[in-house]
Amino acid sequence: MKILFLGTSAGWPLPRLGCDCQICQSKAPQDRRLRPAVLINNSILIDAPPDIYHQLTNLEVDTTKINALLITHAHPDHIHGFYDLTHLYNRQIKEPKLIVPLEVFNGLRRFHPLPLKPFKPEIVRPKTVIEHEKIKISFFPIKHSRIPCYGIKMKADRIFVYLPDIVRLPRSKRKQVRDVHLLVLDGSSLGKRGQTRIHQSIKEGIRLAKDLKPKLCYFTHIGHITGTHQELEKFVQKEGGRNFHIAYDGLELEI
Ligand SMILES: [Zn+2]
Ligand SMILES: [Zn+2]
Repeated sequence: MKILFLGTSAGWPLPRLGCDCQICQSKAPQDRRLRPAVLINNSILIDAPPDIYHQLTNLEVDTTKINALLITHAHPDHIHGFYDLTHLYNRQIKEPKLIVPLEVFNGLRRFHPLPLKPFKPEIVRPKTVIEHEKIKISFFPIKHSRIPCYGIKMKADRIFVYLPDIVRLPRSKRKQVRDVHLLVLDGSSLGKRGQTRIHQSIKEGIRLAKDLKPKLCYFTHIGHITGTHQELEKFVQKEGGRNFHIAYDGLELEI
């Protein structure tokens, strides 16, 4: 599986407008982050953040290959770019699928009551495994905010689990996230400083990942009260180990 990180910020992009903090002043390209989304095997998009048009064009993604959009939850940083995606052209597939659990679909419809075309909705029941492009896909409920939020698990030769927004993974859900190849976790804050009630911190994520034992663990959804990419990368390697990393916009992994 090929995983391209289109965006790795939390709810707002980095640098923040007008901010003179160390991260926002950084000249390193890894410290420029847009809202979170990933593209799998050039064709399956997870989430539709407000920046999606610029992410796809700046990274020169061949958008004619996109044949499915999956959405984790209906918060603005994950759905406000949907409007732009409704004008996909020269598609190799006529009707790309919009694969979502029902509550996520309803949340998207409240924000976007306009036609969904060209997307064709395919409502999935949580925990049910569907197959798309030879990848087994399932959504499983996780704790985030008051609105329903899902983790996404994708299984081909190897397993990828995407949890960009999470405050807690219930014990009963841990079994399906154990021993995966690539686990992507919420990096909204480093520790308690700047942490909100709806996101776990990188420190908590490291503890969770040590229990789940993925081959690789990357943090995305990087918040403002964290550190520069270089500082964070050093931190997770020291606290977690050599298989822990910080994602950045444009990073591509092959698992
Ligand atoms: Zn988010
Ligand atoms: Zn700043």
